[in-house]
Parts: sequence; C-alpha cells; structure tokens
Amino acid sequence: MKPPVFEYIRPADLDQAIAALGEGGVAPLAGGQSLMQELGRRHRRPRAVLDLNRLQELDYIAVGDDQVTLGALTRYRVVERCAEVAERIALLPEALSYVGHATIRHRGTVGGSLAYADPSGEFPCAAVVLDARIVLTSTGGSRTVSAEDFFIGPYSTVRTDTELITAIIIGLPPAHVTWAVEEFSRRHRDYAVVAAEVGIGLDDSGRIDYARIGVAGGGPTVRRHRSAEDALVGRIPTTALIAHAAALVAEESSPIHSVHADVEHRRHLVRVMTGRAISKASTKRTGEL
Ligand SMILES: Cc1cc2nc3c(=O)[nH]c(=O)nc-3n(C[C@H](O)[C@H](O)[C@H](O)COP(=O)(O)OP(=O)(O)OC[C@H]3O[C@@H](n4cnc5c(N)ncnc54)[C@H](O)[C@@H]3O)c2cc1C
Repeated sequence: MKPPVFEYIRPADLDQAIAALGEGGVAPLAGGQSLMQELGRRHRRPRAVLDLNRLQELDYIAVGDDQVTLGALTRYRVVERCAEVAERIALLPEALSYVGHATIRHRGTVGGSLAYADPSGEFPCAAVVLDARIVLTSTGGSRTVSAEDFFIGPYSTVRTDTELITAIIIGLPPAHVTWAVEEFSRRHRDYAVVAAEVGIGLDDSGRIDYARIGVAGGGPTVRRHRSAEDALVGRIPTTALIAHAAALVAEESSPIHSVHADVEHRRHLVRVMTGRAISKASTKRTGEL
C-alpha cells in the first residue's frame, strides 16, 4: 500500500481546480475513500492529485420548489441527515444509510461516488432511479448528463479526465410516492451484493400510478428497469403482480460472477430484493397488499 509519487495540488477556488484538471494527468481527490486505495495499490498513477476538500463552492445542498441540487463535495452523511431532503426525497437518506458505516459516510462524497461508478453503489443507483442530472465542468464550459447515460461499465463513466463533477440535480418525485430499499450484503453494511431501490405511488383506487425500480449489483452498471415499471403501472399491487415484475427485472439483469456471488445467485438475489422492495414500497402507507 505505497502510492506512486504524485504532485499535490490544493486549489483555492473552483476556477483554479478546473484549470488544473485541464492540464491532464490529474486525479480529483474528494473523500479519498476509494482514490487512496487505488493509489496505494498502484491501480492509478496520476501525475497530480487535485484536493477538492477546501472548495466550499462544491459543498452545499440547495432545496428548490421542484428540485434539490447537491454540490459534488457534499458528504453522504450531510445528505442523509438533511431534514429538507428527507421530507422531499425519502429515498436518499434510506439508500445512503446502507453505504458502509457512519465513518465512511462522514467522509465519502456524492460526487466521488458517482465518479467512482461502483456497480454496487447505493448512491449511483439512487441517482439513476431519481432521474438525476449530473453537471460536468471543464475549461470548455459545463454540460449536463442524465444519470442513466452517465454509467457505461464497471467503474466507468462518460466523464472525461478533464471534467469535474460539480453538481447533481434531482427533480422532486411526486409527494405520494413511497420508497423502499432492500439490500443483501455479506456482513452488516458491507458493500451490497445486490440492492433494489423502488418507488411506488398509488392512486385513490389503490392502483399503481408511479413506479421506479433500480438495481445495484445486478450487472456491469447500476440500472433502472423500465419494462418492470411499465408492468406495474395501472394495476393493483398483488403478490402475483409483484412476483411478475421482480422476475422481469431478474431476467433483464446481466449479473457478473464475483467472489461474493456467482451469476445465478446474483440473479436470484435481484429477484428477491426487487420483490421485497416493491412489496415494502406498496404497503408502507397502508400496511396491506
Ligand atoms: C470500508 C469502506 C466501505 C465502503 N462501503 C461502501 C458501500 O457500502 N457502498 C458504496 O457505494 N460505497 C462504499 N464505499 C465507497 C465510498 O462510498 C467512497 O466514498 C466513494 O466510492 C468515493 O467517494 P469519495 O468521496 O471517497 O471519492 P474519492 O475516493 O476521493 O474519489 C473516487 C474517484 O472519483 C474521482 N472524483 C472524486 N470526486 C470527483 C469529482 N467531483 N469529479 C470528478 N471526479 C471525482 C476521484 O478522482 C476518484 O477516481 C466504501 C468505502 C470504504 C473504504
């Protein structure tokens, strides 16, 4: 665990950070929970490490009438404990509570989590389920990418080396939606083997009028399962319907074999976690199925 030699850059403001990143060969350092391991193992050999930790401009939560914006340097724990976020987007505190232990969440950042793009990551999965938009900034300006288009493979995104994630914008889901997270991990608060994040809204007649299903650990990237969402909308959430939707998600998944779970076990977990999460989200308010 000995990092290669690198130059250390601590920019005074965001403009300096963007300019330094534009010079190439630079790795941004946020919470450092993943980057320092990669450096220690020499999986990465950047020319320079760009320490973002003093950039106040990136450390904020802005709650608007129809969206919440998170600065990229906002720590998981700050989001998890923000009452205004919890009131409007209940998925976030619930999903983030599964990220490692509290010490990890005090340090890790939402921007670092997206850039790292772990296919088992709870926050990347929430970003996809919530239709978040990710703001990428470089010396050439800013562009916004939907979370669904952002992740392209394990630990791989459309972000170029000279772009910094500066913000994550999340539109507010309808107020009547109930969220549920179900996760299987080897030990309490280990990385997820599989996690399902689900939002369900019911109309006055008890039919589903809103469905969001996201899975982490079910393939090379976190992903949303629209065909299963479509199968739910307009229908009463019966046990049979939920089993059908969960089976669709499992069929659509493309699990990767790992030391934690082989392909079939992972697919099984996708079905079980998804079914439980749909069921929980459908019954949280009424207690009935
Ligand atoms: C013991 C342990 C348990 C963990 N458990 C979980 C878990 O259960 N679930 C989970 O999802 N994660 C888990 N993590 C990972 C944790 O979530 C990390 O904090 C996260 O993946 C990276 O966030 P960070 O802020 O630490 O980023 P860093 O480690 O600083 O950076 C990660 C990568 O993102 C890049 N980067 C950082 N910020 C930006 C930015 N603004 N723009 C562009 N690139 C950027 C870095 O250059 C690097 O490539 C765990 C980590 C540890 C050490």
